[in-house]
Amino acid sequence: MQNDVRAELELQGELRLALERRQFTLAYQPKVDAHSGAIVALEALLRWQHPRLGWVSPARFIPVAEHYGLMGEIGNWVLQEAIAQLARWRAMGLALRMSINVSPQQLESDDLVSRVYTLLNAHQLEARQVCLEVTESTAMLRPSHTRALLGQLRALGVELSIDDFGTGHSGLSYLYRLPVTELKIDRSFVIALDEGSLPVIEATVKMAKAYGLRVVAEGVELPQQQQALLACGCDEFQGYLFGRPVPAAEIETILLAAQAAA
Ligand code: C2E
Ligand code: MG
Ligand code: MG
Ligand code: MG
Repeated sequence: MQNDVRAELELQGELRLALERRQFTLAYQPKVDAHSGAIVALEALLRWQHPRLGWVSPARFIPVAEHYGLMGEIGNWVLQEAIAQLARWRAMGLALRMSINVSPQQLESDDLVSRVYTLLNAHQLEARQVCLEVTESTAMLRPSHTRALLGQLRALGVELSIDDFGTGHSGLSYLYRLPVTELKIDRSFVIALDEGSLPVIEATVKMAKAYGLRVVAEGVELPQQQQALLACGCDEFQGYLFGRPVPAAEIETILLAAQAAA
């Protein structure tokens, strides 16, 4: 117990220094069109390499950063980095969207909307080329505040996604009143396909479609899962079957090869 506390304190101390020491990078994972298999978007995923601790998983450090109030600043760096990268890729003629995860703390800050607006303008990007992902549980934290804020972001034209859908027990009636454009079915439902989650996914896709949402299945690892999810009507897939999160240079090579082949 005491060791856990000490480890967490050490982690937050190191996290405070990580930005200025340039220890963060972004990895990019493809989202592919369910029918054509083409890469239509990338999700930017934060990576932290510490000289002594090595690679620390986001599942471990993001909750700590959030708890100690560091996720606002880190999240701003992610936004800036991912948007600048998208602009470079679009300038190379790559037709991509960029999905960026947004933390609870970023939703609390007064300047998220103006920050996104400023970044889009500075890089001459169309708002619809950027998709902000908010987890279902984050979206439930302060419902009326969240709905208002997402409304402002949507008014800019950015796409909005509910991430990890199905894990937050929010109920569809609440979520569908949010001005979102995409729903990501959580990996746990994809894993549970062989244990009978198919009807749940089918019903979710059907309802999401009725509300005009794009449906993405995350964590697709097996061809059997791909087949079942395609039959359910999912629009896009993300998962190791199509590509792991990789550094910018690596995904760029893949994207340029696909562009040349097209
Ligand atoms: P997420 O947004 O749901 O991202 C998907 C996670 O699932 C990523 O883990 C990705 O590597 C992993 N994944 C994708 N496909 C597969 C698959 O086929 N199999 C398996 N086993 N895993 C798969 P990662 O990169 O470790 O990130 C974990 C979570 O940390 C993310 O979940 C997201 O909630 C959070 N996160 C990552 N980067 C950021 C960020 O920049 N800002 C914020 N606020 N949160 C972030
Ligand atoms: Mg995400
Ligand atoms: Mg997710
Ligand atoms: Mg997830």
